Amino acid sequence: MSEFICQGCGVKIQTDQPDQPGYAPASALEREDIICKRCFRLKNYNEVQDVPYNDDDFLRMLNSIGSTKSLIVNLIDLFDFNGSVISGLARLTGNNPIILVGNKLDVLPKSINPKKVEQWLRRTAKEYGLQVKDVFLISAAKGHGMEQLSEAIERYRQGRDVYVVGTTNVGKSTFINRLINETSGVKDAITTSYFPGTTLGFIDIPLDDQSSMFDTPGVINRHQMAHYVSEQDLKLITPKKEIKPKVFQLNEEQTLFFGGLARLDFEQGERTSFICHFSNDINIHRTKLEKADELYANHLGELLSPPDEESLDKMPPLKQHTFRISEDKTDIVFSGLGWVTVPEGSISVSAYAPEGVKVSVRESLI
Ligand code: GDP
Repeated sequence: MSEFICQGCGVKIQTDQPDQPGYAPASALEREDIICKRCFRLKNYNEVQDVPYNDDDFLRMLNSIGSTKSLIVNLIDLFDFNGSVISGLARLTGNNPIILVGNKLDVLPKSINPKKVEQWLRRTAKEYGLQVKDVFLISAAKGHGMEQLSEAIERYRQGRDVYVVGTTNVGKSTFINRLINETSGVKDAITTSYFPGTTLGFIDIPLDDQSSMFDTPGVINRHQMAHYVSEQDLKLITPKKEIKPKVFQLNEEQTLFFGGLARLDFEQGERTSFICHFSNDINIHRTKLEKADELYANHLGELLSPPDEESLDKMPPLKQHTFRISEDKTDIVFSGLGWVTVPEGSISVSAYAPEGVKVSVRESLI
């Protein structure tokens, strides 16, 4: 078969795998302007469809930004810092300046200090070697902080193109739709404006006669819980409004289950409080450590839910991570699911999450 290229996004056309990039039905090859299924849906149904690019495709696509002169806007999910940092971004985007944007500020509880969040973002960026021009905290869904941010983008870009990058589920579509809506008054522009001919596979939104804003495909970070649960469960575990922390006073040898998606064993230490920050839709269940395995074996997907049936099919088994916590005010973080703040140190815990999902500890944000 001779090689066909999608006239919308430039991806190579294939006719075998409908759920992969570049798919078009064989009958489409007869037409003059062949476009892939993703572009077809965007054009005809105003619907952005996520196709699973593999890691190489992503790297290639992002790498092409390195050879442009542009401003990078990197969205981070404030509910899932660790899961939404793109490692290697500095290398991929060349020397282009970066604005870091922490999204979903509205879900953080009032007890969290925004200054600390901002400092954390700057520090993390430094660790990853990113040249950060500025940091903003916003809520794309509520519109908080958007005006200040769009002014800053206009100021920093100095007439250049803007690339918006982020891992999946950080709120990139919500962000771009709002930005366009606020500057142009067009509703849901990202799904209604379609500008064929970009060779990079990015969605192109004109800013003025010379320059554009590009929406890049969401980078997959395999440490994120999002990739191991059903769409239905993803909705449940992604907080939609301010998280109400739930406090448990635990003795050693007690266990908390977060639905059936994660588990925390308090193995050793004085009685202390565990402040849980999870979507309000996740049930937290307390039990004795000695009964935990049995409870999990018998009640996963029922008493301990989510996971729903579909998630159960795709979810790897839970993996144990053991931590000795010596510092006061520490967070135990389940990437993309939530975190538990331990106000007092000198304890030992084991945290469980599906294998592949990152579990880590950090200085608390309170
Ligand atoms: P994308 O995959 O990066 O394009 O992310 P989406 O724009 O589809 O958003 C992912 C999820 O996060 C959706 O459930 C959104 O409703 C939600 N979301 C996006 N922005 C915000 C925000 O500022 N606050 C809250 N609470 N939720 C948000």
